[in-house]
Amino acid sequence: MIPFLDLGAAYRELKTEIDAAIQRVLDSGWYILGPEVEAFEAEWAAFCEADHAVGVANGLDALILALRALGVGEGDEVIVPSNTYVATWLAVTAVGARPVPVEPDPATHNIAPDLIAAAITPATRAILPVHLYGQAADLDPILALARSRGIAVVEDAAQAHGARYKGRRIGAHGDVVCWSFYPGKNLGALGDGGAVTTNRADLADRIRVLRNYGSRVKYVNEVQGVNSRLDPIQAAVLRAKLPHLEAWTDRRRAIAAAYADGLKDSGLILPQVPDWADPAWHLYVVRSPDRDALQRRLTEAGVSTLIHYPIPPHMQAAYAGVGLAPDALPLARRLAGEVLSLPMGPQLATADTGRVIAAVQDSASPN
Ligand SMILES: *Cc1c(COP(=O)(O)O)cnc(C)c1O
Repeated sequence: MIPFLDLGAAYRELKTEIDAAIQRVLDSGWYILGPEVEAFEAEWAAFCEADHAVGVANGLDALILALRALGVGEGDEVIVPSNTYVATWLAVTAVGARPVPVEPDPATHNIAPDLIAAAITPATRAILPVHLYGQAADLDPILALARSRGIAVVEDAAQAHGARYKGRRIGAHGDVVCWSFYPGKNLGALGDGGAVTTNRADLADRIRVLRNYGSRVKYVNEVQGVNSRLDPIQAAVLRAKLPHLEAWTDRRRAIAAAYADGLKDSGLILPQVPDWADPAWHLYVVRSPDRDALQRRLTEAGVSTLIHYPIPPHMQAAYAGVGLAPDALPLARRLAGEVLSLPMGPQLATADTGRVIAAVQDSASPN
């Protein structure tokens, strides 16, 4: 079976460096925040072309703390994509605000910038674009609209490590950019991890205080913070992996190029990349109206696939209370029924890429 993503292979590739990094933390006697986390924050900020990085416990907390640092709370509205992972919405409701969904551009599956203005009300405090599958959302019109209305922009970059928008790395276009280092992400820890990056010193400082009990000086609590710190062992693992991220992204690009070429006559809808985007290819998502049958045939042919995501947030039981009928957001609903993610990752062998292409060609046109 060709795995969707082989995390064990990713570890074995760097076993010596990762084991040494973990051992370094064990030997240091320093197990919360400290030099390893600070070093990773500096390295991650530099990679993201941002002035500041703050490590937190996971990607969802990064989003929650970004919204809290901006003062978003009860009675506020935040514009979110209808087509996203549920964490984007969970962050908004976690701070007591209301998610206001906007449908995607069907070409890119990312939030459609020209639909956002109509969703803005006097209660709108932030726009939360997601760089889905590792491809940047169209940020310039979103930033222009937000600035003209005095609204913040928080980016969900949990899938976009190393992606570029108009040549510049994702990391500080909006007010705060939120990262996840969940093991399956393009830069993944060996457990949970997250960060925010920003060029705003005020927000970096506020998030740094919020993540550590609202405390700058031990036992002095300025605000009601939380415990959401990046673990030093995970920071050390991320430091071992970061120098390889660029090469891994190149490998993902090569796989995406092979898929694009090999599947151009398959009849499937393939990812569309605007000329200003340089995706990090977290996922390679194809579309078929006959998706479930395609997935079944691929499984029989020994190719693992996944669906990102089978149920859009507004159709989850968790959001039954927001009162959106399934067809209130028809595009999000439709994409959930048609998308299929093919195997993708730096450890996917070239020969396996060829086998995936052959299997998809057979399965997409079984006659
Ligand atoms: C993974 C992910 C998150 C959440 O990250 P965690 O570290 O798992 O909390 C948020 N948004 C998107 C788009 C994601 O893919």
